[in-house]
Amino acid sequence: MPAQIIDGKKISEDIISEIRAEVAALTGRPPCLAVVLVGNDPASAVYVGSKKKMCEKIGITSIERILPASASQDELFTVIKQLNNDDGVDGILIQSPLPKHINEQAVFNFVLPEKDVDGFSPTNAGLTALGESGGLVSCTPAGCVELLRRTDINMSGTNCVVIGRSNIVGRPVASLMLKESATVTICHSKTKNLAQYTRQADILIAAIGKKHFVTPDMVKDGVVIIDVGINRTPDSKKLHGDVDPACAEKASHITPVPGGVGPMTIAMLMSNCLKAYKRNHAK
Ligand code: NDP
Repeated sequence: MPAQIIDGKKISEDIISEIRAEVAALTGRPPCLAVVLVGNDPASAVYVGSKKKMCEKIGITSIERILPASASQDELFTVIKQLNNDDGVDGILIQSPLPKHINEQAVFNFVLPEKDVDGFSPTNAGLTALGESGGLVSCTPAGCVELLRRTDINMSGTNCVVIGRSNIVGRPVASLMLKESATVTICHSKTKNLAQYTRQADILIAAIGKKHFVTPDMVKDGVVIIDVGINRTPDSKKLHGDVDPACAEKASHITPVPGGVGPMTIAMLMSNCLKAYKRNHAK
């Protein structure tokens, strides 16, 4: 029987409605997200635009700081410092990729952890790695776990295999799954005989960046598949996941691409903005 589709679009809309209701009930000023964009990368401009639109929909104020591609790291630090010190700003998002002459991690490190809605600062990444709940968790990994939670998929005691060990997806999602008491295996490009691991997975999370990399022979019957991949082939404008859609014939549940993890990322960003606002106001 083909897999049940985990509808990330619908689940993210539910989360957005919940956040909107919470924001509407707030007294005082609404939450405020500052988005910092360096350069004129068209894809980044689209992402910033959609985050801005989502803020409007929810009732979160968004402000933009746009710097030219030639801006130095120090100029960017100056802008972030102003936002760090501004009590009217709850969340700061640095749109990546940054121009090559800027050290991205150094910039993420410079954002105050309590305003770091991307969860990329060492403090927030560290809290996630420690399994502590006090920080802001990065959005895509949080979205993956929220999809499982809201689909009533039991995580405790399962074998979870994560393919990918990046700081923005693989590592943090593995930490979150460990926190949910899954037995977690992290695979990467140096893993030998990858399929030997993936075939053991009750839950498979693919964050590789290679179109249809996971094929049906690599998964067992009944597996739950979370496909984080977003791959655009040069010949087509369509988006493709890291998982061959034919895996749906063996899986019990699978996320589509598009419409799976993607919409959850922005929903979790909004959730982090609200969380940062509430903490800012509780001070
Ligand atoms: P990275 O390129 O940073 O990481 C890819 C990971 O995949 C690396 O750890 C790499 O291993 C591993 N890998 C590469 N080739 C293989 C292989 N042959 N076998 C096993 N592992 C392999 O990518 P990201 O983590 O940033 O993103 C992954 C995917 O998720 C991309 O398609 C990206 O577009 C998408 N994405 C989607 C988001 C969303 O909102 N839905 C958000 C963020 C990312 P190694 O470390 O050894 O190099």
